[in-house]
Amino acid sequence: FRFSRRPDMGGRIRVSFEFFPPKTDEMEEKLWQTVTRLEPLGPRFVSVTYGAGGSTRERTARTVRRILTETRLTPAAHMTCVDATRDQVDQVVAEFAEMGVKRFVALRGDPAEGVGARYRPHPEGYANAAELVGAMRAVGDFDISVSAYPEKHPESPDFATDIDMLKRKVDSGATRAITQFFFDNDLYERYVERARRAGIYIPIVPGVLPVHNFSQVANFSSRAGAHVPAWLAERFDGLQKDPQTHALVASAVAAEQVMDLMERGVEDFHFYTMNRADLVFAICHMIGIRAHEPAVDAGSAAA
Ligand code: FAD
Repeated sequence: FRFSRRPDMGGRIRVSFEFFPPKTDEMEEKLWQTVTRLEPLGPRFVSVTYGAGGSTRERTARTVRRILTETRLTPAAHMTCVDATRDQVDQVVAEFAEMGVKRFVALRGDPAEGVGARYRPHPEGYANAAELVGAMRAVGDFDISVSAYPEKHPESPDFATDIDMLKRKVDSGATRAITQFFFDNDLYERYVERARRAGIYIPIVPGVLPVHNFSQVANFSSRAGAHVPAWLAERFDGLQKDPQTHALVASAVAAEQVMDLMERGVEDFHFYTMNRADLVFAICHMIGIRAHEPAVDAGSAAA
């Protein structure tokens, strides 16, 4: 039984968290509560997504700046090439670099008309994520993560094409791949084997999605290139109006997935937080990651 496994006691496990830029003051307040709760877990970095077509450019920048100035966290800024010229993209990268950003997540992005529409690169833009990585490399010695798809990207005709794109991103200077979420660990393991056979040796960090809302996940999964196994649907069956049990089940499901990956030798995890702390905090706790309170200042303790 999976839960008899011992959590990580040697401090080898490293985590990173993904947030999206908030749209309203209320959402910002909620994100900030999440950031404050997760910060003491000491993630390696926290990333902030970039909306379709650069629609969140300002909000992404504002969130990244807040993280840089108000926390001790290391931010990673997501960037896409959608609907932007090379000059515009280079300008955004330069602005982030000036701000003190040293990590990026470089993506092609989806067409503004939505996932599924045919992607057309901007005539003066970068054609894909590999070109974007190359452009970032030309600006500075950044840590650059890229995407990977254990079930292949929906636009990839086959795994060979998919892996070839990952290889191009690595050859352009990517330092790490973060996967799309998945629920079947065998698929991840097979993908990593395929990548290694193709001569790709960068870390391929599993992206873990704690299921805050099963119906929503089931709705967007196929568009994201991830499938929802029947056993998962079965576990959440009938819990739509029972948020407490839903959360307990979600925490168990994600912890089980992460522990199984640890058993397979995985030591790095990226969590899609959906700007919510509770599930991620619980899962991190279960795998042995503890909050480290800021050291008590000797002066104030004596006072
Ligand atoms: P690429 O790596 O450039 O390509 C993806 C796949 O498409 C390739 O594997 C390749 O097989 C196929 N492909 C691409 N071009 C061709 C071609 N010319 N011919 C044949 N096949 C081709 N989206 C956002 O808008 N903002 C974000 O912040 C964001 N963050 C993400 C973070 C992660 C970790 C992941 C996994 C995804 C994220 N996405 C984000 C979603 C991503 O933008 C979409 O999945 C998009 O459709 C592909 O972008 P990419 O960088 O993965 O593309």
